[in-house]
Amino acid sequence: MVTKSVDLQSEGLRPAVCKPAALYQALRRALAAATDAPEFEARELLRETLALSMADILLDREIEPPADGLARLETLVRRRLAHEPLQYLLGKWEFYGREFTVGEGVLIPRPDSEILAEQVLALIRGKKAPRLLELCGGSGCLAATVALEHPGAEVTSVEKSSAAFGYLQKNCGALQSGVRCLLGDALNGEVVKGDFDGIFSNPPYLSAKDMGELAPEVRHEPVMALYGDEDGLFFYRSLTKLWKGRLRSGGFLAYEIGAGQQDAVKGILEAEGFRHIEMFRDYGGIIRVLTAKLG
Ligand code: GLN
Repeated sequence: MVTKSVDLQSEGLRPAVCKPAALYQALRRALAAATDAPEFEARELLRETLALSMADILLDREIEPPADGLARLETLVRRRLAHEPLQYLLGKWEFYGREFTVGEGVLIPRPDSEILAEQVLALIRGKKAPRLLELCGGSGCLAATVALEHPGAEVTSVEKSSAAFGYLQKNCGALQSGVRCLLGDALNGEVVKGDFDGIFSNPPYLSAKDMGELAPEVRHEPVMALYGDEDGLFFYRSLTKLWKGRLRSGGFLAYEIGAGQQDAVKGILEAEGFRHIEMFRDYGGIIRVLTAKLG
């Protein structure tokens, strides 16, 4: 039974008093079955459920862990061993130095998407009140980051999934980002009025083949946020065609893309009349972002 390896009682850790270092070691060993980062995840779970810090673990003073905290820890470890993403268990995750609430139904912010935020910020540098549109906003990590890092930017984010939209609104609101959140379909141009200095998106971009090879954790994330049709390129084709007419003169389009999609997406952008196409690599050296301007 999966839970056997996390039965804290059998580790002698369930009595009223226990030592943080032994608890940490037991957790680390159990989590190694599900993750490459058992130390990090053990620390995160201890912090979340028992408010234990790394200092508490190192000092290793006896503690009396509250029963409800221990019960929650056991539940979360069991769920983690069933490959639920750590981020969903914690209910929050960091992006660009800020905390975003996450959970079932919304794509977890990835560090690689910070490259898209950075490039959008670079494209609007020095502009007083750029009007920006985000398509497929998800958790709101991109829209809120851009809005907060560039005060004066007027950012609207569109999200179709009502589950994800709840997170979008919550995060953009809690961070006081000023982002306007719209529940609607990015494939419908009427979802928002007006024209924009820039449009950006991290759309679903996995192909049918990618979907068949998902890590077990990613299988817990919404298919709607991942799947970009048979070849993964559906949204680049549709969004580019639909929204290019809504860019102001000199306006830009900025996309996150999947590994190896740069030539295909560049081709789509060029066929729609975009020029000045630039590519940017993520922290792993993979080309992750394309930016383009009209004309
Ligand atoms: N980056 C995600 C993954 O690799 C995919 C996100 C997306 O399709 N936009 O699983």
